[in-house]
Amino acid sequence: MRHIAQEIIRAISRFNADVNLMEVCGTHTMAIARSGIRGMVPENVKLLSGPGCPVCVTPQETIDYVIALAQHEDVVITTFGDMVRVPGTESTLEQVAPKIVYSPLDALTAAQESPDKNIVFVGVGFETTSPTVAATVVLAQERGVSNFFVVPAFKLIPPALDFIARSPKINVHGFLLPGHVSTIIGSEPYKFLAQQYKLPGCVTGFEPIDILQGILSLVRQIAQNTPSIDIEYRKVVKPEGNKKALEILYDVFHAADARWRGIGMIKKSGLAFNKVFKQFDATKRFSVDVPEPVEPKGCICGKVLLGLNSPVDCKLFGTQCTPLTPVGPCMVSSEGSCAAYYKYGAPPHTTK
Ligand code: SF4
Repeated sequence: MRHIAQEIIRAISRFNADVNLMEVCGTHTMAIARSGIRGMVPENVKLLSGPGCPVCVTPQETIDYVIALAQHEDVVITTFGDMVRVPGTESTLEQVAPKIVYSPLDALTAAQESPDKNIVFVGVGFETTSPTVAATVVLAQERGVSNFFVVPAFKLIPPALDFIARSPKINVHGFLLPGHVSTIIGSEPYKFLAQQYKLPGCVTGFEPIDILQGILSLVRQIAQNTPSIDIEYRKVVKPEGNKKALEILYDVFHAADARWRGIGMIKKSGLAFNKVFKQFDATKRFSVDVPEPVEPKGCICGKVLLGLNSPVDCKLFGTQCTPLTPVGPCMVSSEGSCAAYYKYGAPPHTTK
């Protein structure tokens, strides 16, 4: 295996133009940091981390809304563990004692077991997570459960890539595309990158070899000026994706404008409930007073999420902000860039 990796790195090293390649998956961010890939590839191939950590891209106002909602007497907030320590404007979710669940089905079960409570599931995640939540909503409707709700804070990856591709400031030359999201949506929704922006993309898996193969695919496409969307993860990703999962997803939700931390509003980059399921929308059912959202002071997470800054550019990195004392979401989440740099060390040629 080491021999194959060395061969791939040698092939990448033959490419001598300066390029910025972005990974847009939090699991890739962690895998790249853990295996030290940034230090293995030549300096002219710069790897940027993109907005691939779902907790990190969730805007402050959503966190504040959920914290405010948790104060409702009859409401029990249910969420995945990563969310609870994300700082809101005035406190964290942890301080209002949410119930940690491992799947949306756990939240639905809690609703059925506690009919006198309103169980609200915090719907954060990309296309990997949202079909499971959609399936749970369908189940809740079939079972006639009226005390189960979802905060629809999901995000869609292709519109975010479109935003990044259009940005001269970010200046990305190719994308390592997410393995998990692509098992659901396939590779076809990324075609616009190659066709409209002449940018190559490659869907890769999570082993160091897979990621190196993805980087090689991108630099080759750039060198030969043949941008396309390559799949180096064919055992699980098909061009057309998972049709059944997409069908359930769009039975329950439709694409809607959504706000991203560090980016702002991106058209049709989130999900809203379709009419027949709107009774499950927590944001329509419960109105609460939410404080004016204020980003954590000194935190540059928004710029880190766009690859404009590295975590080590942040003055708080490793001092006031650590995984034990996180100031911003990029240090809280197990998929955040700051947490990855803290855990595995900054790569040798990290630049300001
Ligand atoms: S190190 Fe902490 S404060 Fe700085 S950008 Fe990362 S999460 Fe924000």
